[in-house]
Amino acid sequence: MASTIQLSDISQHYLQLEEKYSAHNYHPLPVVLNRGEGVFVWDVDNKRYYDFLSGYSAVNQGHCHPAIVNAFTEQAKKLTLTSRAFHNDQFGEYAAFITAYFGFDKVLPMNTGVEAVETAIKLCRKWAYQVKGVEENKAVIIVCAQNFHGRTSTVISFSTDPSAYNNYGPFMPGFKVIPFDDLKALESALQDKNTAGFLVEPIQGEAGVVVPSEGFLSKAKQYCADANVLFIADEIQTGLCRTGKLLACDHENVKPDILILGKALSGGMMPVSAVLASNEIMLTIQPGEHGSTYGGNPLACAVSIAALKVLADENMSDNAQSMGDLLRTQLSNLNSPHIKEIRGRGLLNAIVISHPSTDAAWELCLHLKENGLLAKPTHGDKIRFAPPLNITSDQIKECVAIIAKSLENLG
Ligand code: PLP
Repeated sequence: MASTIQLSDISQHYLQLEEKYSAHNYHPLPVVLNRGEGVFVWDVDNKRYYDFLSGYSAVNQGHCHPAIVNAFTEQAKKLTLTSRAFHNDQFGEYAAFITAYFGFDKVLPMNTGVEAVETAIKLCRKWAYQVKGVEENKAVIIVCAQNFHGRTSTVISFSTDPSAYNNYGPFMPGFKVIPFDDLKALESALQDKNTAGFLVEPIQGEAGVVVPSEGFLSKAKQYCADANVLFIADEIQTGLCRTGKLLACDHENVKPDILILGKALSGGMMPVSAVLASNEIMLTIQPGEHGSTYGGNPLACAVSIAALKVLADENMSDNAQSMGDLLRTQLSNLNSPHIKEIRGRGLLNAIVISHPSTDAAWELCLHLKENGLLAKPTHGDKIRFAPPLNITSDQIKECVAIIAKSLENLG
């Protein structure tokens, strides 16, 4: 299939430009997009696709949501960047809005997801030294195997994926890796009195949508509280209604000590991320000790308020919950020999492919593309199915028909 795929001249033109002039740090599906609306994207030949990746869950609200586009364009005409050297009339409103929305005292605004993770790590360490009383430079943060928290050199220092860390050393110390979903391992790691935090994805997205056992998050939070250790939830991918609740932690009524958000915080308009915490934690950082030129810029603030309002106004968590149930039921009714496992929560789902060819997941994605649905393999044999959260039941059924046809094409 890979060798027989037909691309128009115009698509080939764009592919060749990227191949020649861009770093080869991605391996995209051979499709060139130029338009998006709701659950759909179109390629340069005007072919329409269902988007089952949603910009790795950044476009939860659907492509080019009119309310978010409107907030973006209106604010872009007025003021886009002041830096935090001066105040602007959007940041205070945004800080009040987002802290009330998630029930935290304070927010620290950043841009990309990994910057927010870095911020959470720094904040956790500051708290450990200034509040908990850990000896200087001894703080330890517990993380999970198969984690994905981004690409900076600190964050890849505790990755267990060789393709993320190979030849990027030396690495940042101060992290202890335990297996995911393993309370015994957590309990034992928490014995170390220098432990400052436990950084965890409530569902491991990049690892292939690995959902922990019921009770894991609530018990982990309790163990952390008992050990005076901060429970840090990276909800960059799982948050903002994706799993059928505002936050994936809400499924177990867990309130993290530090909450990390990104991706859909702007509905796919621009990089907007945030760290939320209590006064006790957040006020350990003083003026000049952390920052970002673009963090808290007025354009991002206006866009983010609109993006969060859309999630609530359109009740996207309930839709994600019911459409996710429908998707998994319909997929399992296919009884396809090529699907080994279907897993997920809400509209964050993955299938694990069973096929003699090691390239089968990639091949299936090429068939899906030909049949009008875009998805991308992760870790070889898994394909994430994560459409925008405003998908309807008729659309889910149409998508399952496309998936069924593509599985047949796979042979
Ligand atoms: N954390 C999680 C859980 C993610 O899924 C991602 C991105 O996929 C990140 C952090 C990094 O976000 P960004 O790519 O915006 O830096």
